[in-house]
Amino acid sequence: MPTTKQIKARKVLDNIKPYSPGKPIWELQEELNLDKVIKLASNENPLGPSPKGVEAIAAGLAELNRYPDADTVALKEAIADKKKVSKGQVIVTNGADELITLLSEAFLEEGDEIIVPYPSFSEYDFGADLMGATVVQVPFEEGFQFNVQKMIDAITEQTKLLYICSPNNPTGTYLSKSDFQSLLDAVPERVLVVFDGAYSHYATAEDYTDGIEFVKDGKNVLVLQTFSKVYGLAGLRVGFGIAPEDIIQTILKVKEPFNVNSLAQAAAKAAIKDDEHVNQSKEANTIGAKELYEAFSELGLNYVETMSNFILVQLGPDAERLYNELLAKGVIVRYGKIWGLPEYVRVTIGTKEENEFFIEVLKEVLNK
Ligand SMILES: *Cc1c(COP(=O)(O)O)cnc(C)c1O
Repeated sequence: MPTTKQIKARKVLDNIKPYSPGKPIWELQEELNLDKVIKLASNENPLGPSPKGVEAIAAGLAELNRYPDADTVALKEAIADKKKVSKGQVIVTNGADELITLLSEAFLEEGDEIIVPYPSFSEYDFGADLMGATVVQVPFEEGFQFNVQKMIDAITEQTKLLYICSPNNPTGTYLSKSDFQSLLDAVPERVLVVFDGAYSHYATAEDYTDGIEFVKDGKNVLVLQTFSKVYGLAGLRVGFGIAPEDIIQTILKVKEPFNVNSLAQAAAKAAIKDDEHVNQSKEANTIGAKELYEAFSELGLNYVETMSNFILVQLGPDAERLYNELLAKGVIVRYGKIWGLPEYVRVTIGTKEENEFFIEVLKEVLNK
């Protein structure tokens, strides 16, 4: 019998644990034989996909025999137009996750360092681990606030990338424009600052920046956004980056030619112009956040005020048990242990019905 034992994977893979997503609805439904299961675990848009996006997909079906446009020209134009940047400053990828991997492949070598606020989105670490680079974590302050000085202090000769996720996943907190400016003023020119704006649309604070103005200003900033969240197209996998042209050119070297499928390109191009869907989604989110805040306050639970479409809420020392009981009753949220927050869960703001069901079940498991 041949054996695979002698086939050695790259050493750096020893550090990599496969990503564990929230359970899909069907799996929980099958496992526990539940009538009703709601998933508030992946920050998806509860209102559904952009209707204009869906229409565009239908129109594209008959051309599926053709390869997609490798250069994603039409979508790039739509993004450039919307964000008031040049086409050469845009790269389109198979979800923003792919962009994080491509960035890592393009810029990181063994021994390099990336700086990430902690806790934040795990894909930054994945990219670094994949390349044998080191992750330098900078913990948040009280109330999960960014500490710009500590991020600056963490910079060394080896630093190549510095990540800012604002609003941050999983905390919902954000970095103010003036703090981002101070950070950029202090960062050496050999460091690329990656601004993850996956949730930018939801941020309502007056001193919020989505980072794009700094790219326009010629700073070493790459802004990453996605069609998976407010646009409701998570299943299609489209994201994009906006950065200085030479940064884009470097990343293009490691991109596969047909990374974004044709239906995804068509849908995203329509969705970015679907202001009605975006505005409805934002309004519903603001109302939902308020309803959940009120319920948490009534239940005596601490929560972190959010600039996003999810809320980090503190369930206390029994959080793991409560998380499992919620699951058993058909409510999927994310348990905070993966972020070193064992007393917390992160709940995505759902539809009115979903939020009500979540609160009802939460009251049950809390015996309130
Ligand atoms: C969801 C998310 C992304 C990217 O999602 P894709 O579906 O890969 O486009 C990027 N950053 C953060 C912080 C996210 O939460």
